[in-house]
Amino acid sequence: MAQDLFQAPDYYQLDELLSDEHKLVRDAAREWVKREVSPIIEDAAQKAEFPTQIINGLANIGAFGPYIPEEYGGAGLDQMSYGLIMQEIERGDSGVRSTASVQSSLVMYPIWKFGSEEQKQKYLPKLASGEFMGCFGLTEPNHGSNPGGMETKFKDMGDHYLLNGAKLWISNSPFADIAVVWAKNEEGRIHGLIVERGMEGFSTPETYNKWSLRASATGELIFDNVKIPKENLLPNKSGLGAPLLCLDSARYGIAWGAIGAAMDCYDTALRYSKERIQFGKPIASFQLQQKKLAEMITEITKAQFLTWRLGALRNEDRATSAQISMAKRNNVEMALNIAREARQILGAMGITGDYSIMRHMMNLESVITYEGTHDIHLLITGMDITGIAAFK
Ligand SMILES: Cc1cc2nc3c(=O)[nH]c(=O)nc-3n(C[C@H](O)[C@H](O)[C@H](O)COP(=O)(O)OP(=O)(O)OC[C@H]3O[C@@H](n4cnc5c(N)ncnc54)[C@H](O)[C@@H]3O)c2cc1C
Repeated sequence: MAQDLFQAPDYYQLDELLSDEHKLVRDAAREWVKREVSPIIEDAAQKAEFPTQIINGLANIGAFGPYIPEEYGGAGLDQMSYGLIMQEIERGDSGVRSTASVQSSLVMYPIWKFGSEEQKQKYLPKLASGEFMGCFGLTEPNHGSNPGGMETKFKDMGDHYLLNGAKLWISNSPFADIAVVWAKNEEGRIHGLIVERGMEGFSTPETYNKWSLRASATGELIFDNVKIPKENLLPNKSGLGAPLLCLDSARYGIAWGAIGAAMDCYDTALRYSKERIQFGKPIASFQLQQKKLAEMITEITKAQFLTWRLGALRNEDRATSAQISMAKRNNVEMALNIAREARQILGAMGITGDYSIMRHMMNLESVITYEGTHDIHLLITGMDITGIAAFK
């Protein structure tokens, strides 16, 4: 990739609404992405490899459990800081942000919120430092948008549980040390179980040939009569509401992250448009290109405010799941549209790996589908305002 010259757009002086701590955390993440992610990410994406060399750096900027209390190894930050870290990481690459989101919101969060004290002590500090990497198994081959229909199940065998089933499309699965897996007991009630790599009958084959999130490893989780120690069941919450709370936290991070990807595409296109000369003038001087750029900064600014407000509500524990759905849906679509427009501004250069835009665009095709599809989030808003669920 060409040198990273990123300059963050802040058209409405949103920085003035952030505390000194927020800016400190954000700037540290921004600096780290520029130094450690930008130089290697294009190569990793081209090779379809997760760049494991950045795990320590992610831990150091607080990307693993930003809001998990320090007593468990987390960074003890607020929701705004968490969002800003996700924004900066996704400015670099949605796949890297996915790895951090899964570790924080889908693995550390359920252990912190629904786990026993022993589970918290055993897993959280290692997950925060990156010594352990985790994954989250909810989606199944036959159940994506409708996870409540899951078929993965476990049986009480007296001194242990026996787990059977399969999960698909699982980020981090090929290298994860542990998996937080959602499965039904004999009464059909959903519970979270911590499955460790090495348990007999547990395998994690990788999913190849992705055109999207290539720098993030994706795979399956297969459970063939896996013996799970009873102390690995998350004791403090069950039912579909438990994984959905994890998804709230991850979707909130995605809402911020998508802004990062959009900012990078906009900033790249703005710079290019001022440098590229056609018909004797910079292409930035043509009205059609200005329209694209002006609409981009307008949409980014609107998303920044929506998400800032969502962060304030989450800090007060008042953000609803439907509000999070709206922000996730709006921001990812916004980012994808900006990526497509920005790609056009770069002409043929836009399709090369010399610039980040095409990679962002392809990544965002996953982001718009995972953690609840674009359609489903719309239907969640519809349900929230009408009181009628149109998706069941
Ligand atoms: C790269 C990647 C990483 C992922 N990582 C994880 C992970 O770590 N853990 C995990 O558990 N899952 C993960 N997922 C899975 C992801 O969450 C699912 O793909 C997603 O929930 C959608 O499920 P599906 O792909 O089965 O689509 P489907 O549910 O089959 O949907 C297909 C289409 O039908 C539409 N549709 C479905 N139901 C309705 C309805 N009622 N009304 C209207 N339209 C409907 C959808 O909007 C979509 O457009 C990942 C996915 C990807 C691509």
